Amino acid sequence: MAHRPIAGRLVIATHNPGKLAEMRDLLAVYGVEAISAGELGLAEPEETGTTFRANARIKAEAAAKASSMPSFADDSGLAVDALDGQPGIHSARWAGPDKDFRFAMNKIQSLLIERGAKSAERRRGHFVSALCVAWPDGHVEEFEATVDGTVVWPPRGTKGFGYDPLFLPDGQTQTFGEMPSEEKHGLPPHGRGLSHRARAFLKLAEACLAKR
Ligand code: IMP
Repeated sequence: MAHRPIAGRLVIATHNPGKLAEMRDLLAVYGVEAISAGELGLAEPEETGTTFRANARIKAEAAAKASSMPSFADDSGLAVDALDGQPGIHSARWAGPDKDFRFAMNKIQSLLIERGAKSAERRRGHFVSALCVAWPDGHVEEFEATVDGTVVWPPRGTKGFGYDPLFLPDGQTQTFGEMPSEEKHGLPPHGRGLSHRARAFLKLAEACLAKR
């Protein structure tokens, strides 16, 4: 089926100011104006899906229904092979109400040690990003991308957020916590577009956005 172009205004179904700012910048290049769900006073739906893709869709569809405008949502997290894909869709929750990622990273390390995962081969991990754009008439566009790497210990670097200091992307010498954010998230030609989110956004742009 043909992809549907995104033009004009797009609701960003996030109450996270960091994510909103990032999307605003990315979309401005394509002449698309980003309005936040927070600004519109939209409620956040419960994320009841069992996959990143399902949760992105729940958020985008809820915003499209409530705003009668095309709406975008993303869902992301870290999946560790030796932990059967955990923390996965629960990545944010593992840090608890205080968003304590030091605690969450320690939990991953403890579980890996419990399972005897010491070598790099046994410590494979993947950041996953699922993006969804939903229209009020029910049409949806969905994109997903991953970045593969190794879960290192101890955590390295103070840049980025969440599990960044724990994650060494394949082919790199710096963790996401050590590299400048432009290298991680920035899109070519300025950035290297290494992150799961950058990769998924490039897929969305190719399918649904036209450069001005
Ligand atoms: P959500 O997509 O807002 O549900 O949250 C995803 C959670 O996954 C975040 O709170 C982070 O803990 C983690 N996460 C997602 N993407 C990244 C990343 O690029 N770096 C570090 N942690 C991430």
